[in-house]
Amino acid sequence: MNAVIAIRPATSEGCTDAPVLRERGQREVFCGLTGIIWLHRKIQDAFFLVIGSRTCAHLLQSAAGVMIFAEPRFATAIIDERDLAGLADANEELDRVVTRLLERRPDIRMLFLVGSCPSEVIKLDLSRAAARLSKSFSPQVRILNYSGSGIETTFTQGEDACLASLVPELPAAGMNEAASLMVVGALADVVEDQFRRLFDEMGVGPLQFFPPRRSTELPTVGPNTRFLLAQPFLADTARALEERGARRLPAAFPLGAEGTTLWLRAAAEAFGVPAERFESVVAPKRERAQRALARHRAQLAGKRIFFFPDSQLELPLARFLSRELGMALTEVGTPFLHRQHMAQELALLPAGTTLSEGQDVDRQLDRCRAAQPDIVVCGLGLANPLESEGLTTKWAIELVFTPIQGYDQAADLAELFTRPLLRRMKLVA
Ligand code: SF4
Repeated sequence: MNAVIAIRPATSEGCTDAPVLRERGQREVFCGLTGIIWLHRKIQDAFFLVIGSRTCAHLLQSAAGVMIFAEPRFATAIIDERDLAGLADANEELDRVVTRLLERRPDIRMLFLVGSCPSEVIKLDLSRAAARLSKSFSPQVRILNYSGSGIETTFTQGEDACLASLVPELPAAGMNEAASLMVVGALADVVEDQFRRLFDEMGVGPLQFFPPRRSTELPTVGPNTRFLLAQPFLADTARALEERGARRLPAAFPLGAEGTTLWLRAAAEAFGVPAERFESVVAPKRERAQRALARHRAQLAGKRIFFFPDSQLELPLARFLSRELGMALTEVGTPFLHRQHMAQELALLPAGTTLSEGQDVDRQLDRCRAAQPDIVVCGLGLANPLESEGLTTKWAIELVFTPIQGYDQAADLAELFTRPLLRRMKLVA
């Protein structure tokens, strides 16, 4: 069976050189602390200690839900008024908290001290704290730090900051080692296993995932490392890997049947997999994904969608929804536009797509109301007001928390958009 979706060449069409509306006003986005929710599930022997306020603790608790099993793997060391007023030595307090935590929890092998707005305000130097504490606790525990504060990071940038802080810890691969592939970005274990099987069948490897499931299984990195970004929000991590000699394989992101094929093909070509072998491995999976998508296409084709900037997943999602499901893009907003990392995505977007970078929330709300799209992708803070105005919304955070990459998840990803539209139709009926 031939592919239903023709992969059109990324040349004259698309949005490669399209103008981008740049906005630098008030924004409505979660801070980078949110990344802890999926990172603590991924690196199973790591602990995330936020040095923050009660607001930070509440954000984490409400985003993570109630943890009813096992020992928690993140917590907030609350900076109180005495710390803020400079009446207590915050470093001493932090050392005491960390010592107590590590004595009580010998299962922790990697500890991230995560900065927040309050820790930045009192200028608590977490990199020095991490170095100081490492002297006491290494080699049993590796202690690292990064910032998840709302002053420095938005939503998915927390993962980028976390992984970038880990890059210097990766063991060096030898100059003469064979080329290896590193998949970069936290993926659900089930998705990782699917990709591993596909790469194995193609004969691409050795294969490593970053972040690993355990802190003791850090991938190696060196000049023979080729890496594929599995997530589009990892600019700092990619730069840090490149500084250690690794080379990024340019590719579209693995969302939908087409994106997954292009992503896998980038690795297959770099590792010299013959075209016939590639095709024989991916074709059955791709075609099954396309058949599963057909049902959703019937419901989504022609529907108009508007993206507020939130997760940095917006461009790959827009490409998937327009090319594989026939949706019309009214505006695609992204918090940051990394032209190099997004080159393949931009080239595949329909020419004339309205792109915006950054946010000026009131102006964007005006444009959204004027466009009256069938569905809006936005943060939690905007969803309720827009729903009350009669617009159908999809929470951007759900797209980050749900396994959506790869062939087997393509229809699940489409369903995340059909479900709210069907619900609205039932409410109206
Ligand atoms: S880090 Fe800043 S933005 Fe994030 S929850 Fe804490 S105070 Fe709020």
